[in-house]
Amino acid sequence: MRQHGKLEYGGQAAPQRTCVGCRVRTAKSELLRLVQVEDHVVPDLRGRLPGRGASLHPSLSCLELAERRRAFPRAFRVAGPLDVSPVRAHLEGEPRNVM
Ligand SMILES: [Zn+2]
Repeated sequence: MRQHGKLEYGGQAAPQRTCVGCRVRTAKSELLRLVQVEDHVVPDLRGRLPGRGASLHPSLSCLELAERRRAFPRAFRVAGPLDVSPVRAHLEGEPRNVM
């Protein structure tokens, strides 16, 4: 699954992704990768879950923006609403495991 990422500037730019919340392009390493598991959106903390991912700044405000903009169903190409509570729990630093 390669994507053609077109960089506007050459050289040694780190890979970048667009935050689905605030739409700011940021180095991939600073964004939280999210994946869809059934009707949940979960943080892919090890970067190893399969499937289409979405990137989000690890902040509740970006999560709320993404929810308001219905960015997750669009990012994951699904019709229905998605439950982002595992992501919120992660961002709020709850000690229990997601899923
Ligand atoms: Zn953001």
